[in-house]
Amino acid sequence: MSLRLPIAAGNWKMNLDRASASELVRGLRQGLAPRGAVEVLVFPSFPLLGEVGAELVSSPIGLGGQDLHPEESGAHTGDVSAGQLADVGCGWVLVGHSERRHDHQEGDDLVASKVVAAARGGLVPILCLGETLEERRSDRTLEVIDRQLTAVAAVAPDEMVVAYEPVWAIGTGETASPEEAQVVHRFLRRRSAELWGEARAEALRILYGGSVKPDNAPDLIREIDIDGFLVGGASLDAEKFLAIIHACGESAA
Ligand code: PEP
Repeated sequence: MSLRLPIAAGNWKMNLDRASASELVRGLRQGLAPRGAVEVLVFPSFPLLGEVGAELVSSPIGLGGQDLHPEESGAHTGDVSAGQLADVGCGWVLVGHSERRHDHQEGDDLVASKVVAAARGGLVPILCLGETLEERRSDRTLEVIDRQLTAVAAVAPDEMVVAYEPVWAIGTGETASPEEAQVVHRFLRRRSAELWGEARAEALRILYGGSVKPDNAPDLIREIDIDGFLVGGASLDAEKFLAIIHACGESAA
């Protein structure tokens, strides 16, 4: 049994409107223990943050943004700052999600500067990293993961979470097998020990993301270095997300 409190994080991406997001939150609240053995987080799109934040007051569910700008304020049309996210109740932010890296050509240096901005603004960054199918097929998975982790080596705050999300598994219905995921998670923990010391690496929560569903979550969470999930599609359905949350809770029990 791991001493790391598992995280079940729902990335709602560019889905839902105010009414359906509120309904989803109500469904989650009804199905959750007041303070369970799992840290549950949701990441709505920006226009929904205020409303969802209001629904989450005095609930055990944490709120996060899907992205942020490295600067604190200024002429950056279409972007949001860490301070603005914190102001609407966020305590967390996704950084370097593969859809940001792909759709907006976000490179490792920009991702590192967003990690800095998150920590400066009092948010816990969830650093997302993962290899493409081509990189996996050419046996470069660990090299890519290493590069993406090392890019934040000098700036990572103590309170950071890492999410391993193989790009080929996101939204595709393909999942890394528990053994495949564990190899990468173990590697991440060993590299973290080299970068930041054993104690910090042991406390680091490393999430898996990529087509996590109620039927594959129990086997994945059994792996020693998998400390929870970053869930896209299945987090849009209260029943499915609750089943995944409960799988995380059972692993912690
Ligand atoms: C994600 O959005 O980070 C993700 C893992 O999506 P899905 O669970 O749909 O693959």
